[in-house]
Amino acid sequence: MKFSETKYPIMERFYTIQGEGVYTGFPAWFIRLAGCDVGCVWCDVKESWSTANYPVLDSEFLAQEASLSGTKIVVITGGEPCLYDLTVLCNALHQKGLKVHLETSASSPILGDFDWICISPKKFKAAIPSELIKANELKVVVFHPSDIEWAQSFVKDISINCKLLLQPEWSKSNKVLPLCIDFVKKNTNWQISLQTHKFMQIP
Ligand code: SF4
Repeated sequence: MKFSETKYPIMERFYTIQGEGVYTGFPAWFIRLAGCDVGCVWCDVKESWSTANYPVLDSEFLAQEASLSGTKIVVITGGEPCLYDLTVLCNALHQKGLKVHLETSASSPILGDFDWICISPKKFKAAIPSELIKANELKVVVFHPSDIEWAQSFVKDISINCKLLLQPEWSKSNKVLPLCIDFVKKNTNWQISLQTHKFMQIP
C-alpha cells in the first residue's frame, strides 16, 4: 500500500525504557510503524507485518504526542520502518527538539535524518550493503551459533566508529548466551546486548 509522504501506518507508540543496544536503560518514546517484508521466523512482533487495521497518522500529530510524553529520544521501529520515506517524520520530531533513533534491518533504503541508526541485519531479507555504512550501531541477533560468524561478515562494510553488538535471541538464550560471552571475551571490540525490557517486563 502506498501512503502519503507525511503520514505513516502506526501499530503502536508508547513511552518506555530502551531495552536493547547502546542506549539500553534510557527512557524513549517508541513509534512502531506497521508493515514488514522481512519475515524473521523468531519475530516477536509478527502482528506488525501487515498494515491492515492500523491507523495512518500524520507526522505533526506523532511529533506533538512524542513531545508531550517528556522524552528526549524517539525510537522509530517496526515492522520494517524503512519501507517508508521517513524524512518528514524525522523533520517533525527534530522541530520539537527530539533526538531521532532508528531501528532497521536496512533491507530497504534508509531515508531520513537520524541522530542514531541501529542496523540489525536479518538473514531473511539481506541488508543493502551500501546502507551499512550509515550504522552507528550494528546489532546482530544470535539465534543459532553460526550467527556469530555471520555477524562478523558485516564489519568490512560498516564505519570504523560503529558499535558492534551481539544480542542472544530471547528463546535461545540458554544455548547461545554462553557462546556470545566467550566470543566477546576474545573479540573485545564487540559487546553483548540483552533484551532487558523482557527482564523488566515492560514493552
Ligand atoms: S525485521 Fe523485525 S519486525 Fe520484521 S520480521 Fe524481522 S524481527 Fe519481525
